Amino acid sequence: MNICVSACLLGLCTKYDGGHNMCEELLKLKEKHGLIPVCPEQMGGLSTPREPSEIVSSDSDEICVKTKNGKDVSREFIHGAQIAMRVFEICSCEMAILKARSPSCGSGIIYDGSFTGSKTKGDGVFAKMLKEKGVPVYTEEELKSLEISEV
Ligand code: SF4
Repeated sequence: MNICVSACLLGLCTKYDGGHNMCEELLKLKEKHGLIPVCPEQMGGLSTPREPSEIVSSDSDEICVKTKNGKDVSREFIHGAQIAMRVFEICSCEMAILKARSPSCGSGIIYDGSFTGSKTKGDGVFAKMLKEKGVPVYTEEELKSLEISEV
């Protein structure tokens, strides 16, 4: 099956600091599955490197993402998530494995908007969009429990 994956987990230098989050364990899945990389933040038009951003509020349906210096980048995050969603659909992906705690890709737990490394319950913008469509979303930290190679 095709699996949508955070590009940085496959070693692509899409991170805010120009680096990546290569996950060798995840890369092994390519022997049995198609891995489709997406980076919602780049797809939304943000540059690399870029200022780190966090979700500062997500009351009701209104989501607000700001950079560390206070610039509102909500539009870019939402637009990027929509493009990544389109890629997910075009490639007939059946699930997603995304970078833990990211304001775009995090699932279940994300940074809390204080830029102190503190975390809170919640989903990144792209992860939330996927879940709203019923897509199973996992982080790279859940790979072992997934036993996906047997899927
Ligand atoms: Fe990785 Fe997602 Fe951040 Fe892009 S938006 S660098 S794919 S965690």
